[in-house]
Amino acid sequence: MTAGVSTPGRVLVIDDDRMVGRMLVAHIRAAGFEAKVTDDPDEFIELVESWKPTHVFVDLVMGETDGLEMLSRLARARCTASVVIQSGMGGRVLDAARQFAEANGLAYAGLLPKPFTRDAVAKVLAQSPHIVEETHTEGSLLHTWSAEQFEDELRGAAANGDLAVAFQPKIGCASGRVAGFEALARWTHPVLGAIPPLEYVTRAETVGLIEVITDTVALQALTWFGQSRHDTKERMAINVSAAELSHRTLDDRLRVVCEAANVEPRRVVLEVTETAAIGDQTVSLEILTRLRLAGFHLSIDDFGTGYSSMAQLASMPFSEVKVDRSFVRNLGDSLPAEVMVRSMLQLGRGLGLECTAEGVETQVALDVLTRMGCDYAQGYHIARPMPVEEIEAWLGDCPA
Ligand code: C2E
Ligand code: MG
Ligand code: MG
Repeated sequence: MTAGVSTPGRVLVIDDDRMVGRMLVAHIRAAGFEAKVTDDPDEFIELVESWKPTHVFVDLVMGETDGLEMLSRLARARCTASVVIQSGMGGRVLDAARQFAEANGLAYAGLLPKPFTRDAVAKVLAQSPHIVEETHTEGSLLHTWSAEQFEDELRGAAANGDLAVAFQPKIGCASGRVAGFEALARWTHPVLGAIPPLEYVTRAETVGLIEVITDTVALQALTWFGQSRHDTKERMAINVSAAELSHRTLDDRLRVVCEAANVEPRRVVLEVTETAAIGDQTVSLEILTRLRLAGFHLSIDDFGTGYSSMAQLASMPFSEVKVDRSFVRNLGDSLPAEVMVRSMLQLGRGLGLECTAEGVETQVALDVLTRMGCDYAQGYHIARPMPVEEIEAWLGDCPA
């Protein structure tokens, strides 16, 4: 079930201690990876650009350049490799370095405390998903489109199938069985290629066209869900933007799609993402309540980030919390992440809500979540989002 790349990765190491660097390279090669080492920051960045490593190992404490400066330079070089931080320093300093890496947009993949063993090196490599993100960033051209052009392009894509859906499975943590799917929008433009969802979702919210995306995704996702054979306990999750919670048509539109696809609302979870500010709270509350009364499950997406709050959980009729991936990905090697996830799960359970964790990238994270009593898990470790043909094949391979 594990997603990932089966070919060995390329690991680039920077360490100012040549002995340590050479030993690390020997351990990395023993784990089946290609490896190069340097103690020169400029050469390191050149190799990042020319050799395109899948992983970089950065020593946090170096003589002339410190590790944080190296992380900043990696970010400026738009490095997409998984970043492993190695250091002899303890707990909170390493956590701070990790946060620094993530805040700079780097794909933080793990810590390697010194002195390291061959097993520890193999473990950090096995845990870090050396996966290239499937969405590309060429979509920035989208910003050059006028509102009219964006509308034409979006409506065109919805009509001709360029705007499609990828399905990402969710499993029950305790059972390991498929519990449902999240439908994620995928727009493949003939010129721009794959456009990152957040780019066009945000633009669509701004120009008042988000319902084009919601309706297209909901119709495609529920049509497949209604036709394909599924256990009736499985649910399909659809993302609904908070910007839509002031559209009084939302509940009617979703009910119509459910009817057309022959899927009962109780088998649908609406994940409310707050990429835009909630407008009129009273209208939002009314619409959410009507959706809940119609049987839909309501999930508060990206829970724990600045966008969603405890007050909303308590005051709105949500039935699920979805813990944001930024907390989940560090489970297993960050005590603060563990403490935060545990309290989010406690809060959710205390309010009688089901809990899902997204961004589960490692078996360690899944184990920690299962121990903490999280209900459902979703993430690259279980499966990546897949187009409809692939998900059918993936389900065929799953144990019943
Ligand atoms: P989201 O609803 O929180 O969706 C989860 C995102 O996490 C997806 O990104 C998914 O591909 C990614 N993901 C899943 N597993 C992992 C993992 O293990 N590690 C990491 N690093 N990421 C993982 P995606 O598809 O790029 O979507 C980004 C966001 O765009 C979504 O976040 C959602 O807010 C928005 N979005 C996507 N489709 C729709 C849609 O149909 N309607 C609306 N309103 N928003 C959508
Ligand atoms: Mg979501
Ligand atoms: Mg989310």
